Amino acid sequence: MSKAEYASQSAAGDDLVSLVRFQELALERSHDLITVTDSTGRIVYASPSWQTRLGWDLDLVVGTPSTEFVHPDEMKTAVHAFLAVTAGQSIESAPARVRAADGGWVTFDFSLAPLSDSVGREVYVVASARDITEREALRERVQEINALYRVADAVARATSLTTLFEESIDMLVDATGVDRAAALLYDEADVMRFQTWRGLSDGYRVAAEGHSPWTPDATSPQPLLVQDVADAGFAAELEEAIRAEGIVALAFIPLLHDGNLLGTFMLYRDAPHAWSEREVRLSQSIASHLASATVRARAREALRESRVQLETIMRTVDEGIVVQTSGGRLVYANDAAVRAIGFGSTDELLASERGQTLSRFELLDEDGRPLQTDDLPGRLALAGETSERTIRYRVKETGEERWSVVRANPVYDADGRVTMAVSVIRDITGTRTAAERQSFLTRGSELLNETLAIQQTLAALAELAVPAFAGHVTVDLYEDGVLRCVGARHLDPAKSQVMLELREKYPPTVEAHPVQRAIRTSEPQFVPDVQAEAVAMAHDERHAQAIRELGNTSGIVVPLIARGRTFGALTFGTVPPQPPFTESDFALAIELGRRAAIALDNALLYGEAEARAHAAEALEFVDDGVFLVDGDGLIRLWNAAAVKTFRVKATKAVGKQVEEVIRDWPAIVDRITPAAEPTAGLRSPETFPLVVKGVERWLSISAVRFPGGTVYAFRDLTEERAVEQLKSDFVSTVSHELRTPLAAIYGAALTLQRDDVRLEESQRTGLLDVISSEADRLARIVNDILWASRLDSGQMGVAIESCDAARLARQVVDALRHHAPTTVELRVDAGDELPPVAADPDKLRQVLTNLVDNAVKYSPDGGTVNLTVQPAANRIRFRVDDEGLGVPPAEQSRIFEKFFRLDPQLTRGVGGTGLGLYICRELVQRMHGRIWVASDGRRGSTFTVELPIAE
Ligand code: ADP
Repeated sequence: MSKAEYASQSAAGDDLVSLVRFQELALERSHDLITVTDSTGRIVYASPSWQTRLGWDLDLVVGTPSTEFVHPDEMKTAVHAFLAVTAGQSIESAPARVRAADGGWVTFDFSLAPLSDSVGREVYVVASARDITEREALRERVQEINALYRVADAVARATSLTTLFEESIDMLVDATGVDRAAALLYDEADVMRFQTWRGLSDGYRVAAEGHSPWTPDATSPQPLLVQDVADAGFAAELEEAIRAEGIVALAFIPLLHDGNLLGTFMLYRDAPHAWSEREVRLSQSIASHLASATVRARAREALRESRVQLETIMRTVDEGIVVQTSGGRLVYANDAAVRAIGFGSTDELLASERGQTLSRFELLDEDGRPLQTDDLPGRLALAGETSERTIRYRVKETGEERWSVVRANPVYDADGRVTMAVSVIRDITGTRTAAERQSFLTRGSELLNETLAIQQTLAALAELAVPAFAGHVTVDLYEDGVLRCVGARHLDPAKSQVMLELREKYPPTVEAHPVQRAIRTSEPQFVPDVQAEAVAMAHDERHAQAIRELGNTSGIVVPLIARGRTFGALTFGTVPPQPPFTESDFALAIELGRRAAIALDNALLYGEAEARAHAAEALEFVDDGVFLVDGDGLIRLWNAAAVKTFRVKATKAVGKQVEEVIRDWPAIVDRITPAAEPTAGLRSPETFPLVVKGVERWLSISAVRFPGGTVYAFRDLTEERAVEQLKSDFVSTVSHELRTPLAAIYGAALTLQRDDVRLEESQRTGLLDVISSEADRLARIVNDILWASRLDSGQMGVAIESCDAARLARQVVDALRHHAPTTVELRVDAGDELPPVAADPDKLRQVLTNLVDNAVKYSPDGGTVNLTVQPAANRIRFRVDDEGLGVPPAEQSRIFEKFFRLDPQLTRGVGGTGLGLYICRELVQRMHGRIWVASDGRRGSTFTVELPIAE
């Protein structure tokens, strides 16, 4: 019978007393807890279970308000349910704890129903309750196990610590029924920090963070349970924060691993709460799971991080790293190693069997000798030896050659056995190739610079390039406008000749031929696939066939251009098994071509310079002065004649500004009009006086302009001009010289002829003397001119004989004394014992006459003239001293020149032809003697003649 049925039936029952009795019997036997309260909640009936189950005295229970027995946690719900029932509702099932007499709590499942009296006034509440403590305990146990199971499952599943904490907190809340919960962990600075939380405000977390009932190094911290914050004795601030958050009860459950405190679980309730052992135990279990998960996760994280780091390092290092086991099996290889060994992926490499891997390469040592696998550093490391060596390996499939420096170390186990070998591979192909190329380029440049025989050089270059750089090289150069192959070299010597012949037969003149393209565009050509272009570049099918047979794979053509001039082209090709050319090969070829072009240009320049040097050499022998002034006004060429005229050495003049060398240059340069070009005909040269080192020189200069400057050619007319001047002076002097005696003769003759004048005998004699002496003078002048003319025409014969020098001297002076003015005293000083002189007596007489005559003539103020004859070693010396005008030292050499006179204008009134001393010198030389003058230029002169003694 349900309670509802019971209620309705009881309301409808007739025999209330018997019914009550029946009810009492039933109730007294019931294990259920039956309670009836009045409308105020006061208990009016309590079944015997109150005593048997809870230990209460029934009399004490009846009359007591039912709330006295309600668990504080459930008070609210209980009051709410009571009011609902008094309002007429029934409640089927409501679990609640009832206080037992011993202070413990027993959980009952209540069902409540209202009970009114027959008139419906009094209202009672009937509560029947079944003891479900055991069931509850079982349910909690299941819940607990379930929670732990879920935690364990979560730990197993968790991918990150964060999700694990999240899930654990949820489970904890579920399993304990707390209002809020949180998990905190110590951070690196040992500060407790919220990790996960439920139902906590930001403000609370900030206030509570860092608070911990334990020190971080606490060894076995116990849970701290706070039933009511009011009694906890927390610091005021913390307590205030807890209250402000609405928290009343808290539990601190330490998160422990191996006795180390990692953090805490926090359980919060908003009402005072006596934390049950079960709650604490459950929390501790979850905490311990979580703690170990945390430690494991942390360790795993650290491991993962370090592995990631290591992996990243391994991946990013340029050095290849390979680990092989003692059996030689590869167990690890990083990306760089995979690349260096030439595999596509790590898996591919690791899966490859050792012998198989090695068979892909041709292993060579640094010098290109085959390398035994036992000598590989990895193998040596497995044998316990640490080593490093440079290894060159050729990839058989592609022909590519690579270089590596491999260093390997053994790894030992605890027993000192080698378990692994770690090899570090550094790919040095790049630097090695760069070095090889550099040395190839250097050697090529050296070759190019070594000789100026350019064709041989280029042929040598071809030799050098094969096989260091290319499989074949061809050099085509323009010769008289025609492209000719001057050198060809092929990896296969037999093919070198074939290539040359082929080039002869089929010159690269087809428009699409890369050589033509390179020359036409002046751009280097890169032909990645020669065979693909074979037909396009061939003259005909047979040519194409020949190209196919040569089998070049890739090609590079570099035009040889320097200073805008194209000399030809260099062609490089690759031949299998060489790998095809790459971009860097292209760059190298271009560089090589550039250097070759410069070398060619240098050779040509040198040729031109040599030709120019020959011309310059020729200019050295030209009597005309030649110098070249470049566009900057610098002297570039200065020939021997220029040296002579300007008295500046070529080494001093070349490279100088022209006005530095020729002082008057600015004054005359504008007056020279250069011809536009050498072929423009000869311009009449301009003649200018120029002062060179204080001496005036007359130059006749003409100029021709050319692209690099102006060439000046000049003739030094100074000598000619002087001779011209002398000649004209001579004419005037001689006319004067002739006119003077003629006038005297004429005058004397006229006087003698006059009839109207009677002349005394003495007067007649005087006039006749004048005629005689002036005629004599005339004769001497005419004589001088005759002598000079005979000397000039080479008609002067000399008949040398042994003469008496003293006698000759006396005769000359005696003859002249006759004409000499009275102011001049003539003397002869000649010893009798003189040896005979070897001379032509007429010529010697002429010489002495001229000298003594001059001495008299140039002593206008009188004085003594002495002719001394004496022996000097194996010679006879004739000396004529006077006390006359003297000869300035600067003019002493010139007075022996033809026509030269110190005083051509006759300012001193002494006439002459300027021939006397010239005749003397010429005659003395013909008689194998010497003549010179000594004078201080102020007073007196001494003329000396030396002639050999006759044998
Ligand atoms: P000239 O007919 O003028 O005398 P010479 O050839 O004999 O010609 O002499 C050349 C010049 O040398 C003379 O003009 C004169 O100036 C100078 N000369 C020659 N002899 C003497 C001397 N004894 N004393 C001074 N001057 C002299």
